[in-house]
Amino acid sequence: MCTGLASLTLDLPDPSAGGIAVCDVRCHRCGSYRIAERDRQALVRHIPHVHNSDEADQPRFVDFNDPASAFPVDRLHLVSGYLRELTVRGQGDTLVSAASATTMADTAPATVPARSEKLLLTLSAMSRFAGERHDIQGPRDRSLAYCTSGGELMFLLHHLLQDGLLDGDQVRSDPPIFHWVAVSLKGWSRVEQLRAGVTSFSQAFVAMTFDRDLEWIYLDSIAPAIEDAGYRPLILSRHEHAGRVDERIILELNRSRFVVAEFAQHRPSVYFEAGYAVGRGLPVIWTCRAEEYEHAHFDTRQYNHIVWRSAEELRDRLFTRIKVVVG
Ligand SMILES: [Zn+2]
Repeated sequence: MCTGLASLTLDLPDPSAGGIAVCDVRCHRCGSYRIAERDRQALVRHIPHVHNSDEADQPRFVDFNDPASAFPVDRLHLVSGYLRELTVRGQGDTLVSAASATTMADTAPATVPARSEKLLLTLSAMSRFAGERHDIQGPRDRSLAYCTSGGELMFLLHHLLQDGLLDGDQVRSDPPIFHWVAVSLKGWSRVEQLRAGVTSFSQAFVAMTFDRDLEWIYLDSIAPAIEDAGYRPLILSRHEHAGRVDERIILELNRSRFVVAEFAQHRPSVYFEAGYAVGRGLPVIWTCRAEEYEHAHFDTRQYNHIVWRSAEELRDRLFTRIKVVVG
């Protein structure tokens, strides 16, 4: 998303990516991600001077090969922030396309306070132990708070420090710079509050059929069980699926703490979403109605499904399973 690459590996055409050449990018600012070589070249053509420059460029568009999706250069820092966040959370190597770049930018924190909270959460996610000191450099690390410049990142750090949420060694200069920062004890308390509140860490992705006749499974059992356990259920409606189907699903799965997969009607999309989550290391809780269990796909039998007979039974057992598996 910038030209500050640390390393770049070009894969030979990959059948799973439609037979096109795909790059593995390792960037100090954007983390690790994958991108079609033709899209990467489009980026490089359009942003020749972005590397280590905090100057705002004139708004321009990245002319990806997909002619329907010219992407504004002045939103690239949001994509960079999203990819860095995924990388910090161990979920790098996402495939970036013209369409997914738009969705990533749309999900970026929209306000200054939201970006300040995101910065604190990301610093905590980078900390392997309490008190770990992080060397922060503006141009490289501005993506940690979805900033357009290193100066903006320093501004946010300065105020987190003033509020006592960070410890750090701040050098008197304009803009301020830091030798190191660490999440303070008060900061860790705030992190716990944020995680317990309405943040992406509290989201539970529900994969199930969209048949309206079976909506009661979600409304009477799955959603209340998730909420009772302290999480926020997300189910993508049929209508939302009409657009960028795969991109939205992948992004929401990446933002979720765990997945509930209900196998009524054995829809292929449910197997896909559950399989993706397993591959990502997300906890998946498998549920299936007793009379449908016989038709369950062979490969998922090993996963200890909650086989249920009534809405009440599903709600009770799902709540217990969430507390055991996720906490
Ligand atoms: Zn980059």
